[in-house]
Amino acid sequence: MSLSHTLYCPYCNEPIEITIDPSVPSQSYIEDCQVCCRPISLDVEIDEDGGVEVHAATEDEA
Ligand SMILES: [Zn+2]
Repeated sequence: MSLSHTLYCPYCNEPIEITIDPSVPSQSYIEDCQVCCRPISLDVEIDEDGGVEVHAATEDEA
């Protein structure tokens, strides 16, 4: 099972959809923006209720 989550690209501010594996409660990885193709640094936290919190930053900020 996976979750989808919409966030805004920190480079171009376009909404992009990512897929999250909810079995991993804390994960960080790089995902290329689907619009501008620049690498977004993602920090994903899954809480005990299944809520998803995603922090997106430019690669330079990470
Ligand atoms: Zn972008």
